[in-house]
Amino acid sequence: MASQIEVIDRLRATFRSGVTLPEQFRLTQLQKLLSLVEENEQLIIDALHKDLHKPKFETAMSEIQITLNDLYNAIQNLRTWMQPDYSVGKNLATRMDECFIRREPLGVVLIIGAWNYPLHLILLPLVAAIAAGNCVVMKPSEICQATEQLLAELIPKYLSQDCFAVVCGGAEDTKSLLKNRFDHIFYTGSQPVARSILAAAAPHLTPVTLELGGKCPCFIYGRIDMQKAAQRLCWSKFFNTGQSCVAPDYLLCTTQTRDALLPAIEETLKNFYGPDPGASPDMGRIVTLRHWRRLMDMLKKSKGKVVIGGENREEDKYIAPTVLVDVQESDSLMQEEIFGPILPILTIDTLEEGIEYINRQEKPLALYVFSDENSVVTTVLNNTSSGGFCGNDGMIHMSLPGLPFGGVGASGMGCYHGRWGFETFSHRRACMNRSWLLEKVNVLRYPPYSDYNLDW
Ligand code: NAD
Repeated sequence: MASQIEVIDRLRATFRSGVTLPEQFRLTQLQKLLSLVEENEQLIIDALHKDLHKPKFETAMSEIQITLNDLYNAIQNLRTWMQPDYSVGKNLATRMDECFIRREPLGVVLIIGAWNYPLHLILLPLVAAIAAGNCVVMKPSEICQATEQLLAELIPKYLSQDCFAVVCGGAEDTKSLLKNRFDHIFYTGSQPVARSILAAAAPHLTPVTLELGGKCPCFIYGRIDMQKAAQRLCWSKFFNTGQSCVAPDYLLCTTQTRDALLPAIEETLKNFYGPDPGASPDMGRIVTLRHWRRLMDMLKKSKGKVVIGGENREEDKYIAPTVLVDVQESDSLMQEEIFGPILPILTIDTLEEGIEYINRQEKPLALYVFSDENSVVTTVLNNTSSGGFCGNDGMIHMSLPGLPFGGVGASGMGCYHGRWGFETFSHRRACMNRSWLLEKVNVLRYPPYSDYNLDW
């Protein structure tokens, strides 16, 4: 088996040869990636079920369809994206010149994925990197071994092996990979590891995109159709067993709203998963025992009161959809990203109090507001900052390739999806091709200098 250095050298030699530059090459690789996903749907569903007990519908929606949509979009728009941009403002001295911005690939890039959407977190950045004309080393998460193995098997079968490679292994393998020079690092994962990614990138001055997590707040505020709100909220919170970077992490609402919301959540959960969510084929599991124990530890330390759910089983890493009330700011559940099916409710007296609370925390990856008053949605939008924002629903904003997906502050830097990903993996080269005309104007800048005259 080739060493990491041999793999990177092979990709670098290919990149230098220029084969990834033509539109046709990129298009062919994107189409092959499309075939990879379409022809292996069942293998993907099986791998995700093995890794995360992920229901087939959730895999179809959040691993397969999201990737296919991004692929269709890239294939359809590639020619337009690749066009040089001539809409550059010119001045008197440059009016005869050709001025344009050219999107050029960065080179050999590294994509490091996290375990919670182990397929799409590798394939979506890959779509963007291929579209932009790069060679790519992919490092899937070792935590979801079945998906990791599937990617390692399928990528070389479908895509050019001289341009695209999968490296498997754990944190040590990622660390050794990071000793090499890349032209861009695209990392999805936790904030602590992101710090070591930045540190590893620094000696090479490698640009980095960081897709991180954090605590995504969710306001439920004012008069509202509680049943509708509970459905949208429960879907976005408990999808993938709460293991989504954009899942609502905690709720902010008044005691009055909370008391009206709780029965609606209870009824919704029964409708979604039946009387015992643990027996429902639509409820996933926590990814590993280590992650299960972390969640149970947070739950045990919490001073909040469990009012819905709370059932759990170590043997199959199960935690029921769980809601807690009487949670304080200092509570264990409010200190770090939950990343599981546990939903604490922090009560507030006013909207402003909730906004102040959010603004005292790190900037979240997503922020949600449910209200039937547009002014409430707008007030929260105008007075907070977050990577993304969705009014009256959770998580669904990330399904549109037209919207940039990424964090701000501690929730990440840079973005992707659709054209935004193409831009992330492209260098915007500022080009000017001067005309030989108008030398009369040029002479004004040559020495010997005349007195500086603002009128010319
Ligand atoms: P993880 O443990 O799978 O790690 C992610 C990657 O980092 C893996 O490929 C792993 O090999 C590598 N890694 C782990 N330790 C490392 C180290 N010390 N040095 C170098 N590389 C190392 O995933 P995770 O970090 O537990 O992922 C969960 C986090 O990711 C959550 O915080 C979640 O919010 C965030 N997330 C963000 C997004 C997003 O798009 N913004 C999407 C999914 C997950």
